Amino acid sequence: MTNIINDDLKIQKSNVYSPVLILNIDYTPLGICIAKRAIVLLFSKKAETVIISDKLIHTVNSSYKIPSVIKTLKYIKRPYEKKISRFGIFARDNFSCQYCGNDQKSLTLDHVIPKSKNGSHSWDNLVTACMDCNHKKAGRTPKEANMNLKIKPHIPNLNTHILKYSNKFQNSWNQFLIK
Ligand SMILES: [Zn+2]
Repeated sequence: MTNIINDDLKIQKSNVYSPVLILNIDYTPLGICIAKRAIVLLFSKKAETVIISDKLIHTVNSSYKIPSVIKTLKYIKRPYEKKISRFGIFARDNFSCQYCGNDQKSLTLDHVIPKSKNGSHSWDNLVTACMDCNHKKAGRTPKEANMNLKIKPHIPNLNTHILKYSNKFQNSWNQFLIK
């Protein structure tokens, strides 16, 4: 019984973080957000659902089917992908530690050049790191800590970024992507 409850909670929790494709009012892709954010956009009437998924999230009083694709109700000039976010960095790095490659441990954001050494909070100075590697590296640069990065951090290209997701989880997104 306990296991069933735990599994159920896990499902609910992961659905909140399910990726949702955001389209501009003209159906061009703007980026990806987590289901939680998509639902906020829908409730605040900033977006509408284009494709609904069969995944549910539960609130205290009711359950909602979460969207797979949403569309903004106003034209958005600035692409979402330029905005730096935890989720954006994790997604770019395939939700895996860029030092040891582990994708099972709790993930953190690591400033490659530490903040204490004036490292910036930017796409090219942030990588996904597991808790262990982050602790091990501490306030040092990768060179000082003798830890090699698997990637050179960069701003993700929007279509490559979305395609990666599309192939992995959401085939219904393909129709909106320019190939
Ligand atoms: Zn690691």
